[in-house]
Amino acid sequence: MPDIRPTVGSGALVLNATYEPLCVVSVRRAAILVLSAKAVCVADGDGILHSARNALPVPSVVRLTRFVRVPYRTHVGLSRRAIFARDGWRCAYCRGPAETIDHVFPRSRGGRHAWENVVAACARCNHTKGDKTPAEMGWRLHALPAAPKGTAWRVLGHRAPDPRWADWLDLREPEAAA
Ligand SMILES: [Zn+2]
Repeated sequence: MPDIRPTVGSGALVLNATYEPLCVVSVRRAAILVLSAKAVCVADGDGILHSARNALPVPSVVRLTRFVRVPYRTHVGLSRRAIFARDGWRCAYCRGPAETIDHVFPRSRGGRHAWENVVAACARCNHTKGDKTPAEMGWRLHALPAAPKGTAWRVLGHRAPDPRWADWLDLREPEAAA
């Protein structure tokens, strides 16, 4: 399956009754939640949705009218898209657009496939680095790779965030490497 970078605005952010971010659903699904009074629209997106009987602004953020208990997830799954999202779709070495995943300590030399050892990288840096470490290349990582934390990751494992969601997500830049 091709790895398609999701389009900003292609979904709606769902908040719990407590305003805690829960997940991202299609705008259609969010509209159904609003029309059935299961959620209220908190922020509008672009355009109007029409159905046989209704017209309502495309929801960008909706909040559930009733609190939903969610099992607390202790770790974020390591996926290609999640790594790109954590690293802001930028190369960890040159900050250019990233299209590959690099193992900081190369897998061929026993490097682990873990949050602490994977970074988004551009094809050029990845190819140039080969099976060397950043130290051997004289390169510095823009940020120390680490497992992402916070509620934002319930929604950001999957896509680039819509800027309209920023108020409800605790988005922080990765800490700069010392
Ligand atoms: Zn690069």
